[in-house]
Amino acid sequence: SKAQGRNRYAFFTNELNQSISRRLQIEEHLRAAIDNGELRVAYQPQYEVKSRSMIGVEALLRWNSSALGQVGPDEFIPIAEQSGLIVPIGRFVMQQALSDAMQWVAQEPQFKLAVNISPVQFRDEELADFLRQELERSGFPASRLELEITEGILMRGGPMVENTLATLHEMGICLSMDDFGTGYSSLSYLRRYPVDELKIDRSFVQEMTVDEADRELVSAAISLSRGLGLRVVAEGVESKEQLEALSEMECAVVQGFLLSKPVCAKEIDALLMQREWE
Ligand code: C2E
Ligand code: CA
Ligand code: CA
Ligand code: CA
Repeated sequence: SKAQGRNRYAFFTNELNQSISRRLQIEEHLRAAIDNGELRVAYQPQYEVKSRSMIGVEALLRWNSSALGQVGPDEFIPIAEQSGLIVPIGRFVMQQALSDAMQWVAQEPQFKLAVNISPVQFRDEELADFLRQELERSGFPASRLELEITEGILMRGGPMVENTLATLHEMGICLSMDDFGTGYSSLSYLRRYPVDELKIDRSFVQEMTVDEADRELVSAAISLSRGLGLRVVAEGVESKEQLEALSEMECAVVQGFLLSKPVCAKEIDALLMQREWE
């Protein structure tokens, strides 16, 4: 009936209003979050399967908002990207992570720091200059820094992207292709761009012990990276079965809740002392 239709309309607009206002609230509070010290960087260890030792970490941003409580990056990063706030936020992450990881790279000869860079950050013309300046200032070795980029960055391509990629490569910074397997034409990008590492998306890892197709895809990605001389990391490892399967496939590096959740810098200090994952 007409009345029902009207109610339904009211319901939907109400929901829409709520999601818009949540979005606006996040944007508003995120603006002040850096200055208010509400942002923290957590680190998730990456382990070499062969030696069972921690050989790096991925920096992951955390936001404990005084107004909104804990907000997850899956919710606020897209808003930070749309509003441009990701540029100052990304700089904060980089500075914090370089300073935290200084002693880890000094301690472990292979240790790498991986930092996520979203397409919007990548299109910032000053990215390479900013990185050069921060590496110089901190004394952090460029070869131990790895930028995790997604296909979105490469898909747009263009002279600016190519220039930035070439500059970063010249500087000795490593590039990791994040969420590998979820995009459309990853293979051609591997040929065209100086990528050092593939990161197999956790959606494949999580299904690999129950879904034959996913298992085949993970196995193919591992062989591919071996053939191309790239490092390979499986992310989202949650079970012993997954770890065993990956180990059989000779996957070099693993990351996931089974081994460690993302933790604060102090806990990485402690984990590095203990070195092995068990
Ligand atoms: P991502 O780069 O794919 O990061 C991996 C995500 O998987 C992280 O979620 C991590 O906590 C989670 N994870 C790790 N191991 C497991 C596991 O075994 N099982 C499951 N279910 N999840 C696992 P998180 O920290 O919530 O980050 C979500 C996304 O937000 C990231 O996805 C990344 O795209 C973005 N992000 C996080 N921090 C930053 C940052 O500093 N800068 C940028 N640009 N993006 C960031
Ligand atoms: Ca990595
Ligand atoms: Ca990542
Ligand atoms: Ca991922």
